[in-house]
Amino acid sequence: MTDLLTIDNVSFRYPNSANASIQEINLTVEPNSINVIVGPSGVGKSTLLNLIAGFLKPTQGTIEMQGVKVQGANWRRGIVFQDMALYPWLTVKQNILFGPKMRKMPANQSLDRLQYLLSETRLLEFEDTPIYELSGGLRQRVALARAFINEPPLLMLDESFSALDNYTRSEMHSLLLALWKNNQNGIIAITHDIDEAIFLGQNIYVLNGKPGKISQKFANPYFNMDMSEILSTEYIAFRNQLVSSIKQMS
Ligand code: ADP
Repeated sequence: MTDLLTIDNVSFRYPNSANASIQEINLTVEPNSINVIVGPSGVGKSTLLNLIAGFLKPTQGTIEMQGVKVQGANWRRGIVFQDMALYPWLTVKQNILFGPKMRKMPANQSLDRLQYLLSETRLLEFEDTPIYELSGGLRQRVALARAFINEPPLLMLDESFSALDNYTRSEMHSLLLALWKNNQNGIIAITHDIDEAIFLGQNIYVLNGKPGKISQKFANPYFNMDMSEILSTEYIAFRNQLVSSIKQMS
């Protein structure tokens, strides 16, 4: 199978900084896989996403998507930011349709997708409501719908759920996985939350150290598992392994 994304020996140093922020990152993402990068704050998680998105250029190494070198931002690599970056005075529908309009998606296709996503995210009754009137949880649903409507082959989540309360966050996890199953995107999510990483990641990459490096990759046996089905001793052992891998270098 051709990789969706190939990161080959990528390092990056901000021009105003003496030291590299990330160093010699190698990572591949398969189509329709869901991958989590976990690590403490300041190890370069956002920097790496910004490089993949094409907002930043590697100082060394290359990033290819579907065999083509990443150069600049593109709708094929969507991002859901933590602050969601929605337009507060526009309605839910206007926010969701913004991307398709920019990339000139045919109206019948974008309106079909809009209906499907409003229904999946349970936002039908809010379609004409401006964003500033919505709660944080509803705004996050809009942010997900706005990302998925573009059908990006690769979707990235930058600590997207970290500001939400526990209940809303777990609702968002389920919604994200439901949308992912239907839409077949490749996903990279970054987080500092270990339990979020274990629920959401088929593959979990640990990024740590200064400069940040990928120190370990885990194939996660607890991906998308109902906590009540998990044998607690095995789960705790796996979780502890992940915690100690994060602590080793930070
Ligand atoms: P994380 O997302 O893991 O918290 P970041 O990618 O935000 O980490 O930051 C990684 C490192 O790069 C940190 O040491 C941070 O101070 C530095 N950094 C981030 N943005 C800039 C910038 N614009 N200029 C200089 N250094 C930066």
